[in-house]
Amino acid sequence: MKRVGAHVSAAGGVENAPLNAREIGARAFAFFTKNQRQWKARPLSENSIAAFRENLEAVGIAPRHVLPHDSYLINLGHPEKAGLEKSRAAFLDEMQRCEQLGLQLLNFHPGSHLKKISEEACLSRVADSINWTLERIEGVTAVIENTAGQGSNVGYRFEHLAAIIERVEDKSRVGVCIDTCHTFTAGYDLRTRQACEATFAEFDEIVGFGYLRGMHLNDSKPDLGSRVDRHESLGKGKLGWEPFRYIMNDDRFEEIPLVLETVDPSIWAEEIRQLYALQE
Ligand SMILES: [Zn+2]
Ligand SMILES: [Zn+2]
Repeated sequence: MKRVGAHVSAAGGVENAPLNAREIGARAFAFFTKNQRQWKARPLSENSIAAFRENLEAVGIAPRHVLPHDSYLINLGHPEKAGLEKSRAAFLDEMQRCEQLGLQLLNFHPGSHLKKISEEACLSRVADSINWTLERIEGVTAVIENTAGQGSNVGYRFEHLAAIIERVEDKSRVGVCIDTCHTFTAGYDLRTRQACEATFAEFDEIVGFGYLRGMHLNDSKPDLGSRVDRHESLGKGKLGWEPFRYIMNDDRFEEIPLVLETVDPSIWAEEIRQLYALQE
């Protein structure tokens, strides 16, 4: 079964996220377990944790179909010691929040070299950060998202994801999330069935579908290879409907969260309906 959802709001408490997912007819969802623009957050309260678990069960969504996203401030490939340590501590805290909520995945953007170290050195640091974190936590998988390659972000080539995974010791707890907008603006075409076949064959060869833990379904405002990260509502950007028709009809995308991060939350329910309607 395909599990389509969106990155829903957790305003008022994480326990509201499953309810917001149900509201739009989602069978999967993403959310922030804390304010994504701040380093510090109060620990989750016992009440909030219990209510989250109850609501998740009530809406009938399994923990493996929930893909929390970490804070945008975290840079696990930071070139400087202080920034790296701060990022690792914050990432571990987010992992612990996932564990408290009974969740199994944490999605993050690999990191940025800030023009101070090479891409290769940055990728090694990301892998070291994942190893450091996984040694201190059980039961949660680090899910690396591919990026558009904007600024000094690494992770825009499938080879970058493979290089990180290669250095991770516990390969059972590392995975990837592929964002259709990022893939396209990083230079991989997805606009036709043939282009999807070629791009996902390349992904399978370099990374492997065995590591795929989730997808972000976004159309793209910028063009192929522009290295700019700007999402658009489905069918309204440079991608059109073809990549989404392809994904909704391919068994390799079954039973993983397929999460919308499109720009207009007021049409998420409609976008989810449209995606299911693409199934042949
Ligand atoms: Zn994304
Ligand atoms: Zn993005």
